[in-house]
Amino acid sequence: MKILVLGSGVIGVTTAYYLAKDGHEVTVIDRQAAAALETSFANAGLIAPGHAYAWASPKAPSTLWKSLFKPDQALRLKLRADPKMWWWCWLFLRQCTEERARINTIRKLKLCVYSVACLNEVVKDTGVEYDALRKGNIYVYRSQESLDRGVDHMGILRDQGLEFEVLDRDAVSVLEPALAKVRSRIAGAVYSPLDQSGDALMFSRRLAAHCADKLGVRFLFDTAIKRIETSGDKVERVITAGGARHADRYVLALGCDSPILGRSIGLKLPIYPVKGYSVTLPTKTGKGALGIGGVDEDNLMAWCPLGDRLRLTSTAEFSGYDRSHRAKDFRAMFRAAKELFPDAADYDRPDYWAGLRPMTPEGTPILSYARYRNLLLNTGHGHIGWTLSCGSGKITADLVAGRTPEIDLEGMGYH
Ligand SMILES: Cc1cc2nc3c(=O)[nH]c(=O)nc-3n(C[C@H](O)[C@H](O)[C@H](O)COP(=O)(O)OP(=O)(O)OC[C@H]3O[C@@H](n4cnc5c(N)ncnc54)[C@H](O)[C@@H]3O)c2cc1C
Repeated sequence: MKILVLGSGVIGVTTAYYLAKDGHEVTVIDRQAAAALETSFANAGLIAPGHAYAWASPKAPSTLWKSLFKPDQALRLKLRADPKMWWWCWLFLRQCTEERARINTIRKLKLCVYSVACLNEVVKDTGVEYDALRKGNIYVYRSQESLDRGVDHMGILRDQGLEFEVLDRDAVSVLEPALAKVRSRIAGAVYSPLDQSGDALMFSRRLAAHCADKLGVRFLFDTAIKRIETSGDKVERVITAGGARHADRYVLALGCDSPILGRSIGLKLPIYPVKGYSVTLPTKTGKGALGIGGVDEDNLMAWCPLGDRLRLTSTAEFSGYDRSHRAKDFRAMFRAAKELFPDAADYDRPDYWAGLRPMTPEGTPILSYARYRNLLLNTGHGHIGWTLSCGSGKITADLVAGRTPEIDLEGMGYH
């Protein structure tokens, strides 16, 4: 079958890989000059079933409300006259019950665990390297009170069979010696051994190269998609800056732009951009260097060693499609990082970035056929798309082939 994958972020590339493995003739289209130049470019790097919690929870409304008045918080909601944002917020608030949070978290966790297994298969098959660490991640709590809350919170994931260890500050220092010097500043951590980490950009680029060289996938870069044209219940063609493109199947994997193109063909996708900031720093060698990824849960700052670099990320900001950043957006994450691991990196050589998470209110992606019988959606992976990428690609290939996906997709359809 001839298949057009729209978008070459980590989701489009993994989809192309699985489709090409099934023997399809695959072309990937992207407006950028190479793969993964938008949200997949400099994310936190954590492959994190241990962080599969749905963002929509009973506590989320008050956190959102407070963020209106405390702009320095990790969560920033700006009052804007953007009906799409308010529609999305309304849908999000409807997911903020105990019951919905539980259902959404369990669905997300299952997809995460499945996706890690798929990632391991892809790595075995292709040999792609991407500064990967496969020794788990730690979720660090500064106070006993927050650690107790974190352990309690983790119950839902543990009940589903995810392995965890609760570490006191001494055990944290053994697992991550770089934190030994500041052990008095922390109470302990939750360790998720199944977690991994790695550079999503490097992975996407190298997997794209593998797809092109070994599986015959064509990549059309610098090719903006202007519109999708339909006829009856079918997508007829895609109009790009380089002309019209036809296929038997089309996969929409445009991240935060999926709702924009989708809208033009009558799809109402509940995906809103939630901005985050990252900074990449050269690492220092020696005792202070970090050897494992993690999250400072009290400050919602993630860190990830990536070869000779250290990445820090933070913030969930509702400010539309604005990707700008200023040095002051990074102050809080620098403060938290320097408190925890002052000797891990050269903080004077920052490489700043901001990206947009394609969030759905539920926190689960949309993986289904939608409205047109030859159009599939693989989009809306929010804050956890790197983790979910290989599983989502494989599921999309299953749907194209008419195979039953290995995990239940309830709640991930288009409605
Ligand atoms: C700060 C931050 C930290 C994160 N940390 C993590 C993490 O630790 N772990 C994790 O699992 N996930 C993380 N994520 C989430 C993850 O990065 C995203 O879910 C994932 O990258 C989304 O991939 P995508 O392919 O859907 O989108 P993208 O990477 O944005 O890809 C979409 C592609 O579509 C192309 N495109 C869009 N419109 C058009 C058009 N009209 N014509 C042609 N091409 C077009 C774009 O150029 C782009 O290449 C983080 C995100 C952010 C912002």
